Amino acid sequence: MKRFIIYMYTLLAAMSAGTTAIMGAEPLAVRSGKIVGAESGEPRPLHGVSLAWHHFADRYYNADVVRTLHRSWGADVIRAAVSVELGDGYLANPRRAMRALETVVEACIEEDCYVVIDWHCHHIRTEEAVGFFTEAARRWGDKANVIYEIYNEPENDTWSEVKAYAERVAAAIREIDPDNIIIVGSPHWDQDVDIAADDPLTGYGNIAYSFHFYADTHRAENMERCDYALSKGLPLIVSECGALGRLGGGEVNYEWWGRWMQWAERNDIGWIAWSLSDKVETCSMLRHGAPAEGGWGIDDLKDWSLLVISSLKQKTNENR
Ligand code: MG
Repeated sequence: MKRFIIYMYTLLAAMSAGTTAIMGAEPLAVRSGKIVGAESGEPRPLHGVSLAWHHFADRYYNADVVRTLHRSWGADVIRAAVSVELGDGYLANPRRAMRALETVVEACIEEDCYVVIDWHCHHIRTEEAVGFFTEAARRWGDKANVIYEIYNEPENDTWSEVKAYAERVAAAIREIDPDNIIIVGSPHWDQDVDIAADDPLTGYGNIAYSFHFYADTHRAENMERCDYALSKGLPLIVSECGALGRLGGGEVNYEWWGRWMQWAERNDIGWIAWSLSDKVETCSMLRHGAPAEGGWGIDDLKDWSLLVISSLKQKTNENR
């Protein structure tokens, strides 16, 4: 019954998805362990949607999709997941990657929402990342909209390896852009935030740390690790999350999604839901063949996207 009520609520929220008033992008900063408005000093948790790996989903990397996610769904941040190693990703075809990224970044600037430039990689590739983020900072480092996520999810690297990489990439960005937020990952798919909290980066401002959760896999033990990191003053952002299992399949876990939402709200932590594509897997939000022009109807949306829309609507209603 509970699931049915949630489903009907999200269905109605999705169908009534008109234009939503959302705060525009302001310069951000990290202070006292939180992401805040640089001028107001008030917490500014962002809530939005991640596009999928661009090498198979870049038909959704366009301004119509950005507008739909921002105006209809209520996302104030959109994450561009630039594939690095897989398929026809950045290493094989940097021009295609930069074209997809540019389209999304420019659309987000036009929409006055935030955009996360995500180096979607599972291995350290320092020189390539330095080149990529140097170009991104040169082009968009003066825009308040832009956030750099320099390493999506380390798999097998130790924290000292990830930290050394992050310091090198942060140095390259800070040579050009003194202030936009840089998001740093942690070992084991951004789970080891407790280890990062014991030995954070120093010497650079406006650094946040990503924690990723998939609510049907990551539960109390992961929340305790986050709480430990927060107790040490580590600024967290959930730059990727889902209500399903960690490999993107299984069932939507409404109970633990709700617990994580409450935890995020309690701690002023933003979240970005994975992911916007029509791939045949539970965590992809669109049904296969959904149009690339946005403006999707109920037949294009899965249970997961309805839950995301409902959660985003709740945030935009609170902020009105
Ligand atoms: Mg800047």
